[in-house]
Amino acid sequence: MQTKEHQPAIGIIGSGMSGAAAAHYLRKKGYTRLTLLEKEDSVGGKCHSITYRGRTYEMGALIGLPTSRYTMELMKDYGLEDKGPLLERGFFDREGRKISQIPVTHVPEFVKEFKDLPALLERYRKLQEPGFLGLPPDLCQPFDQWCADNGLSVTQEVFRHYYSTFGFGSVEQIPAAYVLKFLSYENLLSFIEITHMITWPSGVRELIRRMAERVEDLHLTCGVTRMVPLPEGGVRVETDQEHFVFDRVIYTAPMHRLSEVLVLPEEDQELLRLIRHEHFRVYAYSVKNLPPHSGYLPENLDPERKGEMMAWYFRWKSREDNDLVTIYVMEDESRSEAEMREGIEETLRRLGGTEVRLFMMKRWQHFPHVDAEALQAGFYERLDRLQGRDDIYYAGELFNFPTLEKCAAYSKHLVDRFF
Ligand SMILES: Cc1cc2nc3c(=O)[nH]c(=O)nc-3n(C[C@H](O)[C@H](O)[C@H](O)COP(=O)(O)OP(=O)(O)OC[C@H]3O[C@@H](n4cnc5c(N)ncnc54)[C@H](O)[C@@H]3O)c2cc1C
Repeated sequence: MQTKEHQPAIGIIGSGMSGAAAAHYLRKKGYTRLTLLEKEDSVGGKCHSITYRGRTYEMGALIGLPTSRYTMELMKDYGLEDKGPLLERGFFDREGRKISQIPVTHVPEFVKEFKDLPALLERYRKLQEPGFLGLPPDLCQPFDQWCADNGLSVTQEVFRHYYSTFGFGSVEQIPAAYVLKFLSYENLLSFIEITHMITWPSGVRELIRRMAERVEDLHLTCGVTRMVPLPEGGVRVETDQEHFVFDRVIYTAPMHRLSEVLVLPEEDQELLRLIRHEHFRVYAYSVKNLPPHSGYLPENLDPERKGEMMAWYFRWKSREDNDLVTIYVMEDESRSEAEMREGIEETLRRLGGTEVRLFMMKRWQHFPHVDAEALQAGFYERLDRLQGRDDIYYAGELFNFPTLEKCAAYSKHLVDRFF
């Protein structure tokens, strides 16, 4: 590594998992002239842990899976334990009765389909590498079509439970590449078997906080308003606080807003206009007497039932002094705030809940993605052409799916590839 004065000055924009992880991997390679710029007054982005009556709760990301190798390495490097609360879950109908995940009559078919799944998914092993370049055409079609082509009628339902509940959209529309990127065979199995999941007693934001605080130059409330590539190389970055000049920049803020801060040719603007989101909400309710688990309501995963509560998460086992649950809902634009709440509170009561009180709510522009047509037309190949142009590089959830693990993996990949 070059001496400090000859090292490039690198600006990282956004201090969510992608930005903080990019800083971490750069530091590991010996880069020291790093500046992390965050628009909000705290780091974390979609890792949004809150405290209620002395315990942490998650309003954004909540779990890691046993396959989360990069996340676990980061936790080890930053002295964080994987000793968070367990995630025990059940399936319920809308009247609050416990149900089996799939109807008993479908079990023989499911067993048969599931047995053939590893061999089928083996064909798409490359999908587990960072990014979405070079996708096979069959993965660009909607997931339900891919399931139909591969005779997976019952398994599709099981995928849907663990896919849609996270706010990643409906399997009738979302391309198979996204679903299978998230639910590899191993990940699907972790959900079905309720194996050990990673949770963070001090909240997931603690990991990002520890990574960000190691960066020598961290700025909060410092939203980037403009990036101007300089003729002699490097980039001037203007923020609402001060201006910086960097040799290279890594941009991890939302890609659909890039053209607000960087002058882009029309064809790139057109590309970024293809990005879609799911409008997802997390409500935190204080409620007594709910069933003694976290739970899924599979009937409410149907796109027709948008706006209804899909799942709830009971984070801490002892409930005497801790009755806060987080509730996951796709936003229904046709309902008012009051109607959204009424629907949720009615479901909570049907599930047996009493003394229902809203503590807080958070809206998310979740899961940046493109549709089947854009994938087929080579969206990610075109997006990749932006990398390194004018000394600006890009990472974030759009590039490799919105989980902590995939964001960390992509940031590492970017640093290995270009730095
Ligand atoms: C409700 C919910 C539940 C989830 N559950 C899980 C889960 O259980 N497990 C899991 O692995 N993942 C989960 N995820 C996904 C995961 O949280 C995200 O994919 C990941 O945190 C995204 O990290 P990121 O850094 O790419 O983006 P972000 O977290 O969005 O970070 C981008 C950062 O850039 C900042 N920024 C934006 N504009 C500017 C600007 N102009 N200048 C400077 N800074 C700017 C933002 O303030 C933000 O801090 C969940 C997400 C949500 C919303």
